[in-house]
Amino acid sequence: MHLTRSVSCLSLLLACALSAGAQAPASQSNPRLSALKTEAMKDIDSRAQFTQQFVDQVFSFGELGFQEFETSKYIVGILKQNGFTVREGVAGIPTAWVATWGSGKPVIALGSDLDGIPQASQIPGVACHLPLVQGAPGHGEGHNSGQAVNITAALAIKKIMQREHMSGTLKIWPGVAEEQLGSKAYLVRDGVFKDVDVVLFSHVGSNLQTGWGASQGSGLVSVLYSFEGQAAHAAGAPWRGRSALDAVELMDVGWNFRREHLRLQTRSHYVIRNGGDQPNVVPPTAAVWYYFRELDYKKIKELWAIGDSVAQGAAMMTGTKLASERVLGSAWPGHFNRPIAEDMTENIKLIGLPKWTAADQQFARAIQKEVKGDTTGLDTAVAKLESDVPDSLNMGGGSDDIGDISWNAPTIVLLYPSNVPNLPGHHWSDAIAMATPIAHKGATAGAKAQALTMLDILLTPALVDSAWSYFRNVQTKTVKYEPLMRPEDRPATELNTDILARYRPEMKKFYYDPKKYPTYLQQLGIAYPTLRKADGSCAATPNTLQ
Ligand SMILES: [Zn+2]
Repeated sequence: MHLTRSVSCLSLLLACALSAGAQAPASQSNPRLSALKTEAMKDIDSRAQFTQQFVDQVFSFGELGFQEFETSKYIVGILKQNGFTVREGVAGIPTAWVATWGSGKPVIALGSDLDGIPQASQIPGVACHLPLVQGAPGHGEGHNSGQAVNITAALAIKKIMQREHMSGTLKIWPGVAEEQLGSKAYLVRDGVFKDVDVVLFSHVGSNLQTGWGASQGSGLVSVLYSFEGQAAHAAGAPWRGRSALDAVELMDVGWNFRREHLRLQTRSHYVIRNGGDQPNVVPPTAAVWYYFRELDYKKIKELWAIGDSVAQGAAMMTGTKLASERVLGSAWPGHFNRPIAEDMTENIKLIGLPKWTAADQQFARAIQKEVKGDTTGLDTAVAKLESDVPDSLNMGGGSDDIGDISWNAPTIVLLYPSNVPNLPGHHWSDAIAMATPIAHKGATAGAKAQALTMLDILLTPALVDSAWSYFRNVQTKTVKYEPLMRPEDRPATELNTDILARYRPEMKKFYYDPKKYPTYLQQLGIAYPTLRKADGSCAATPNTLQ
């Protein structure tokens, strides 16, 4: 995983030549490419309402991982209308699909996540906590915007490809259940990326930016430990019972003691998924769900093995059985492609950040103040290209199963400015901007970055060659991909079924209807921005379609 610039330059002259020439993007010496880029940017501006309604529509669905049924139906419908061939139910995941258009090389795969966050329901455009549906999930990560970015870009480029008779295939695919790290390794196992030349992944952020090499953060394996004990009357005959909940609690206690003696880069967390039914029945079953995060495959496996031994110890102590150990998700640490990231960064400089209004800035600062973040407002200068984070400087952090894909084909992640900086993440405040002009303008800027980079890939074969040269000769020279999930593991498609069954009837009342309302804020009757009132109260009453 550890890369230094000197190693990469010694072993990859082509990538370094490209990097040295990063100030001169491919289009500067190619007037045709330059003209097509100007055309694509104008075309994407003309699609701003399509992008906005897409962002708003998916926001209103607010679906959790593996339950993205309305979201996928909506997106697949748009793709079919636009001439894409769509394969549904990919890798045994009902909400996963792969849409393809075009023919021949290069094959460009555009991906982005779909899923929301539990208990993150929030009325958009209101800078304080007001759930749309109390207790319901919502887009408290901003995954409602990424496919709008990709598909807006794809439609603009498809139009150009058709007119110019260009060779090339566009593949669009979803990150299902990203919050569970639940699907991308299965898409890899299904062969979705076998013929792909370059993967351009988009993810919501607060600036327009990409990076190459190892990124700050971790990989992980997500494991559900289920224990079986013996039921008994908890007062009448407790000595005849063996509590599975005791095993769960002792596993957690054991893990928390062991945690002191783990590497500082390690991160782990758990939730109890089943703690029994009622106090007077000794729980015959109980289950706890762990995320084990580390910096590379070997260390993730070692951490997981410690988890297994703590679980077995807990079972021995309590006279219960470790009945099953289910892998619910996994993610390799990401490593991203240098030539493609450098190319996109030059395009980002052409695009710049959206023009934020005084209302956007006022709204952003109000949210930041609300969650005690730095009140810097929205970024107004394009961020720099992120470069390889060596292990010695990586103190761990979040994970994304795009990591698995990044070890199977040259991949980059575009961050686009649809959300507000300095928020906690996975939180209702991260949903507040996601159906407002901030999200809409950010998605349009993101679509331009994807589109311009697609044009470079389509018209500059040397760029694809250098991407593969980096992938083969630098990135995977000593590290070989092996899936973290085992051959017998299957996607955990049952996750979140109960939550959606409970909240969907109420959430449906707030689904966006673009035939009736130009924007979701208008449908809800929310003035933008709505701030706390002078007396400190937080109030807004959304309309429903009832
Ligand atoms: Zn995400």
